[in-house]
Amino acid sequence: MRDGIARLVEREVRPVLAANPRDRALPKAEMVKLFERIAEYGLLCPRLPEEAGGPGISMLDYGIMFEQIPPTVSMSMLSQDSCITRLNAECTAEQKARFLPDLVAGHKLACTGSTEPDTGSDPRGIKTRLSRKGDKAVLNGRKMWITNVSACDLILVTCIDEGRSKDGRPVIIKVVVEREASPFEAREIDAIGLNQGYLGEAVFDDCEVPIENIVESDSGTRVLNRSWYVNRCMVGLQAVHLAERAYLAALDYARVRRQFGKPIAAHQLVQKNFSDMVTAITASRMLCYRALWMMDAGEEAGGASAMAKRFAQMNCTEAVWQAMNVLGAMGLSREAGLEEMYRDIRMLPIPDGTNEILALIHGREITGFEAFRGAAGG
Ligand SMILES: Cc1cc2nc3c(=O)[nH]c(=O)nc-3n(C[C@H](O)[C@H](O)[C@H](O)COP(=O)(O)OP(=O)(O)OC[C@H]3O[C@@H](n4cnc5c(N)ncnc54)[C@H](O)[C@@H]3O)c2cc1C
Repeated sequence: MRDGIARLVEREVRPVLAANPRDRALPKAEMVKLFERIAEYGLLCPRLPEEAGGPGISMLDYGIMFEQIPPTVSMSMLSQDSCITRLNAECTAEQKARFLPDLVAGHKLACTGSTEPDTGSDPRGIKTRLSRKGDKAVLNGRKMWITNVSACDLILVTCIDEGRSKDGRPVIIKVVVEREASPFEAREIDAIGLNQGYLGEAVFDDCEVPIENIVESDSGTRVLNRSWYVNRCMVGLQAVHLAERAYLAALDYARVRRQFGKPIAAHQLVQKNFSDMVTAITASRMLCYRALWMMDAGEEAGGASAMAKRFAQMNCTEAVWQAMNVLGAMGLSREAGLEEMYRDIRMLPIPDGTNEILALIHGREITGFEAFRGAAGG
């Protein structure tokens, strides 16, 4: 399975990335074509049960295949997969029948919108509001840093249900906004890396949505937690992908580049660099695989997945840095391509839990004390 995906990437994904400008989002039609191919392997909906049309693969299999795909594309896939997973867990049968088939087949692009300009790590502060008027729901607010949003056909928006409260606290719900039926403004945000993918902002200004698109399930938090555990391993494996490519490029270079009368690969400190890089890549990969394997075995993997993502991101970033150094000045050139990997990997400490938040999640599991809100106990 891993080799099949790796061949697909070389044959069909990399040529598309190479044929398009490196610093601009891929045209949507190109991404949809890639999604339709990747969908044939079930990788847009690996968490859907088989009876609902999923591929019936383990999370470890998913991770091994996901790792082969360049992060500009795999970040979009992860957004699609997260949206499908949540829709499947929380929607009614009628809603699933309406939304899922086109997403599973890759004909349409999806995303999940939680983050806002004033609300990131602590999602309880969201301000986007949904009010009800007859058979319409009306959405007002802004979502920021949303993968896929500028190109999406559908967004699952987390918002406050105006007019409803529980124990005096606002009720957080979700609503599916289909772009064609309920147009909203969206723009791409220019960021340091992953520039061929989509990361953007959406503005909902009295955006009218059919009332039947409201997701009423109350299993939200539980589903979201489990979804994050898998996502964190996948982002860790994106770091592994980038570090591995950088390391292999450095190895090719070091074997032919000569200084002081021999290949630079024959110098002791360059060999130490390679030992460090391979150690970082191997350990990162194993931590991510381990957390996925734990989930397959039905174990709670909150701390394990937090540890895996944070370790992989930090250590693989260092590995890409070392690989660039092996190429000397050439490592800094746009031509060699390592600078792009360095910029791409810099995006990864933030989504699905920043490094600080992940350390607190892991620390809470180890110590049994809650650091977020000051309350004692696990
Ligand atoms: C590539 C990418 C893709 C993304 N995709 C999506 C998406 O599809 N959907 C979506 O909803 N969002 C998405 N996001 C947004 C992402 O989830 C948020 O950026 C993230 O949750 C952090 O929020 P923030 O940027 O507002 O930072 P803040 O929460 O404001 O944090 C700022 C800094 O403070 C630190 N900090 C915050 N609280 C604490 C604390 N208690 N203790 C210690 N340090 C703390 C953080 O670690 C960080 O360093 C994406 C972001 C990126 C970069």
